[in-house]
Amino acid sequence: MEIYVLVKQVPDPEAIVKVKSDLELEIENKYFTSFFDEIAVEAGLKLKEKFGGKVTVLTVDNRKVDALRRGISMGADDAVQIADPALEGSDQFAIARTLSAYLKDKPFDLILTGRQAMDDDAGIVGPAVAECLGIPHVHSIIGLEVDDQKREAKVVREVENGKEHLMCPLPALFTCQKGLNTPRIPLVMNVMKAMKTQIKKIDLASLGLSQEDVGSQAVRVKVQRYLPPPKRPSVKMIKEDFPDNVKTLVKLLREEAKVI
Ligand SMILES: Cc1cc2nc3c(=O)[nH]c(=O)nc-3n(C[C@H](O)[C@H](O)[C@H](O)COP(=O)(O)OP(=O)(O)OC[C@H]3O[C@@H](n4cnc5c(N)ncnc54)[C@H](O)[C@@H]3O)c2cc1C
Repeated sequence: MEIYVLVKQVPDPEAIVKVKSDLELEIENKYFTSFFDEIAVEAGLKLKEKFGGKVTVLTVDNRKVDALRRGISMGADDAVQIADPALEGSDQFAIARTLSAYLKDKPFDLILTGRQAMDDDAGIVGPAVAECLGIPHVHSIIGLEVDDQKREAKVVREVENGKEHLMCPLPALFTCQKGLNTPRIPLVMNVMKAMKTQIKKIDLASLGLSQEDVGSQAVRVKVQRYLPPPKRPSVKMIKEDFPDNVKTLVKLLREEAKVI
C-alpha cells in the first residue's frame, strides 16, 4: 500500500504562548509533532506491516522538519517538506491546496491526517485535501480495517451514545482520532537514523502553483485579532490555623465568592 501521512509541528503544550499584538503571537521555541498526527503515522505503519508498501510523511513548513524526522524515527520510509517563502501568511485552504497539488499525481491508496492540529485546531486541512483530490474522506476515525483485495476500508467513528461503522472505497483520506491506536515510541537507533535521513524539499513552482494561489494573497479566512485569556483573580491566602481557617473559608465563599 502507498500511504501518505500529513504531519504538522506544533508548539509543545508546555511552551509559553503570549499575545504580542493584535495579530502576533510570541511562541516559546519548544515544538513537537501534533499528537493526532502521531496516531496517523502509527495507523499507516500498522497497515504497512500488514500489507507491505511504503509510508511517506509530508509537511508544509518553511522552517521545521522535526515532525518529518519523528515520522521517520517511528518507521516511515520517506519524508517530504514543501517549503516556499510565498507560503507565508497561508490559511488552511492554501495549505490544503499545496498538499493536494503534491499528492494529485502520486499513486496513493490512503492519506492519513490528524483530526486537528493541536495549535490552530481548525480540523480543516484533512477534509479540504480530500475535496481538492476528489476522494472520499471520513473524519475522526477510531477504527480502521483495510481489505487490500477489494480496495476498500472499514472505519469506525464515535458518535453520541455509540459508534458508527462506515465503509468506503480506496483511495480515501481519513483523519485520525485518539483511541485509534497508541503511537509507538521510536527506538534510539531509529532516532539517530532519522537525524541523518535526507528530506526531499519541494517548492511551489515544481507543484505548478504560483504566489497568487497561496500566502496572504489567497487568504479566505483571516485572523482579525488575538486576545489573551482574562486574567485570573489574585489568590487570597488564609493564614489562620484550624478550625478558624475553615470558618473564614466558608465566610469568604458565602459573602465574597457567593458560591454557597
Ligand atoms: C508556511 C506557513 C505560513 C503560515 N502563515 C500563517 C499566517 O501568516 N497566519 C496564520 O494565521 N496562520 C499561518 N499559518 C498557519 C496555517 O494557516 C495553519 O497552520 C494551517 O492552515 C493548518 O491549520 P490548522 O493548524 O488549524 O490545521 P488543522 O486543519 O486542524 O489540521 C488537521 C490535520 O491536517 C494536517 N496538517 C495541518 N497543517 C499541515 C501542514 N502544514 N502540513 C502537513 N499537514 C498539515 C495534519 O495532519 C493535521 O493534524 C501558516 C502555515 C504555514 C505552513
